[in-house]
Amino acid sequence: MKKEIISYLLHVDMDSFFVSVEQILNPALRGKPVIVGGESHQRGVVACASYEARKYGIRAAMPVAKAKRLCPDVICVPGTWSQYSYYSGKVMHFLQQFTPAVEQVSIDEAYLNLLGTERLWGHPYSVALKIQQGIKNEIGLDATIGLGSNKLIAKIASDIAKPKGIVWILPEYETSFLSHLPIEAIPGIGPKTTQMLNELNIQTVQQFLSIPSHLVKQALGNNALFLYHKAQGIDYSMVRSEHEFPKSMGREITFHNDTEDTYYLTAVLHYLIEELCTRLRNHQIMCHTLTLKLRYSDFLTITKSCQLKYFSDLSVELFPVAKTLFLSAYTRRVKLRLIGISLSQLMPHNYQHSLFPDEHLLKWSRLNHHVDQIRKKYGFTSILNADTLAVPLSFST
Ligand SMILES: [Mg+2]
Repeated sequence: MKKEIISYLLHVDMDSFFVSVEQILNPALRGKPVIVGGESHQRGVVACASYEARKYGIRAAMPVAKAKRLCPDVICVPGTWSQYSYYSGKVMHFLQQFTPAVEQVSIDEAYLNLLGTERLWGHPYSVALKIQQGIKNEIGLDATIGLGSNKLIAKIASDIAKPKGIVWILPEYETSFLSHLPIEAIPGIGPKTTQMLNELNIQTVQQFLSIPSHLVKQALGNNALFLYHKAQGIDYSMVRSEHEFPKSMGREITFHNDTEDTYYLTAVLHYLIEELCTRLRNHQIMCHTLTLKLRYSDFLTITKSCQLKYFSDLSVELFPVAKTLFLSAYTRRVKLRLIGISLSQLMPHNYQHSLFPDEHLLKWSRLNHHVDQIRKKYGFTSILNADTLAVPLSFST
């Protein structure tokens, strides 16, 4: 009889990651209700709450002002992005010892495919334990681990195991594991859908699956079948490891005629940024560093880089940075023959758009989503930013 190969996937999710990093940096914060979030007059949203703060009902994405009402003693820390990035790198580096198949899905989450590592590392559960203990002992952070036969099951398992837990859903037990969970435990079923289903008296995954699929489709539209599959624990998506992942993304344009027209040059710059941001979003990644390249007509070439404050895939954030960089870099009164932009320090874009959800950026994000749909159907130049209309279509890819 052919032996079936069962893949073991691990979902590693750091517990209250931003707060935990702050607690390493400042041990006085340990064991206290702490939130990471901007000052209330700025970006007043909780990005992360310690488990002590969660006891008061404080949750991520809640306004800081509300969190302070719920727990007047809560300690509000503004957030240290560079440190989160640093600790995230340490965790990912640690995970890569166990398998090269590590897919980082957000700053504090990754999937590992353990297929073929049993001889080296032993039983999947003991690997999970080693990872959890190693992250604690070597880095000082708590992690929760879900173990399952696919990414979806591993993710739901880790959601249930939080904090500091390990849950392993054995192969063939997926359906019974899922059936008693509330429907909102299924990734992709958000508050709106949950409310809609609850109104139809559907609370659990089992109840959801007992409705005929055509009725589900009637209630939930096109997304229904996808959710129906998920509710059955079906997920064929693969673990995309880092070496399949681009290190940088760039685009440059050599002009037909060298130019010193800064109005035209900034329009080209804007066009390049638009194009690269579209590519980022199509690959579901965000960038942290932007590099500008200028080549003068005498072939002198200069490059200048700048780090963004946050990871982003939005031209509304990247273009102002690129423009400032350009204006400070283009100093000679000599025409340019080439202009280029490259984006690096790329990170997968999961569901979370930025560290501090900002209403203005969320609006742009939604708008871009629609623009991307139009471009996928009719081509990149089917819809252009008015600022980039000066750019000849011959530059388009
Ligand atoms: Mg987490």
